[in-house]
Amino acid sequence: PTPIDVEALFAIDGLLTDDEREIRDTVKRFGAQRIRPHIADWFEIGEIPVHELALELGRLGVLGMHLEGYGCAGMSATSYGLVCQELEAVDSGIRSLVSVQGSLAMFAIHHWGGEEQKQQWLPEMAAGRAIGCFGLTEPDFGSNPGGMRTRATRDGSDWVLNGTKMWITNGSAADVAVIWARTDEGVRGFVVPTTTPGFKANTVTHKLSLRASVTSELVLQDVHLPAEAMLPEARGLSGPLSCLNEARFGIVFGAIGAARDCLECAVDYARTREVFDKPLAGYQLTQAKLADMAVEVGKGQLLALHLGRLKDRGELTGEQVSVGKLNNTREAIAIARQCRTILGANGITLEYPVIRHANNLESVLTYEGTSEVHQLVIGQALTGSKAFR
Ligand code: FAD
Repeated sequence: PTPIDVEALFAIDGLLTDDEREIRDTVKRFGAQRIRPHIADWFEIGEIPVHELALELGRLGVLGMHLEGYGCAGMSATSYGLVCQELEAVDSGIRSLVSVQGSLAMFAIHHWGGEEQKQQWLPEMAAGRAIGCFGLTEPDFGSNPGGMRTRATRDGSDWVLNGTKMWITNGSAADVAVIWARTDEGVRGFVVPTTTPGFKANTVTHKLSLRASVTSELVLQDVHLPAEAMLPEARGLSGPLSCLNEARFGIVFGAIGAARDCLECAVDYARTREVFDKPLAGYQLTQAKLADMAVEVGKGQLLALHLGRLKDRGELTGEQVSVGKLNNTREAIAIARQCRTILGANGITLEYPVIRHANNLESVLTYEGTSEVHQLVIGQALTGSKAFR
């Protein structure tokens, strides 16, 4: 019989609309033609042509694609998820660029910003002419952002920001940073042009994960901002947390894209690699691995689609996003590691995508809420009892 892929096995296409299949396939082609040929080199040198890529992704219409107006495409959450899946099937770093731009930086301005902030930034960001970043995490506060030390104090009607943010995706490439800071009235968000005196971004080097993504430390030293820099509608931690929920939703789809790519690679490899005089794919132990992984990839895709439909109906809850993020990142990294075993020694090189995905998924498991944090969110939902501290 002719082999089928996991999406055919689960009849996924029949669950998508024509528009959804079209955007998925367009992004898949873009990934195959524009990114795949270079990604291993970018990963190896630890650099990506971020400005060029942002412009191309802007032309493709995927930056802030699920937002309405201001040059954004206004597409469904499910379509956005499918785009994340196809981008991350190529590399988690490229999906991170799009997630942070659209779901963190643009969403924060779109949802919590004033009209002038939206007019000024969103069309430029949708086009990829301006890159955004989102500064919440600090060196000492990741899972518990409520402990943040970055402070915004009043100077007349102006604001002065001081503090350090860490692990900020797109940081050194950004034109605008959404910075969350403690004020006398609780946590507030600020739209900070990165040319503002006192703002400095230092690229994080020596990463072994997400090497095809810019990660930075942001240092804010007496950064003076006008009163209008504050996001008027966001008050307290619910502001940044609402943005994280948006980005996590994309990860639910994205991580499964990376897993699918590993599985496809392992199936191809197993069918051609001969061990003990016959193809590896003909051994029961290999087929058990492949079957188990296919089941998890398919289940992960169904879960992602279910959450996408809930989100499009306006019904998706934070706990449900946690279910998706926890399951799909955890399964994806397990699948990447299992696929690596099938590739043997070849699996440790950048000639194949598998170890690159496995290493990337270490970050994906940690950012946007670690697995443990999502377990705690789900545990709280199940028991009614908070166990964070
Ligand atoms: P910690 O919070 O120190 O956690 C360490 C360990 O303790 C983890 O296993 C965690 O699950 C566990 N833990 C924490 N609390 C509990 C508890 N109550 N019970 C049991 N275990 C617990 N942040 C941004 O703001 N913007 C970005 O753009 C961004 N991009 C990133 C890009 C990359 C490549 C990476 C790696 C991180 C990025 N982050 C970003 C930061 C990311 O969100 C944090 O790393 C994450 O929230 C975890 O925080 P931490 O690293 O400080 O770990």
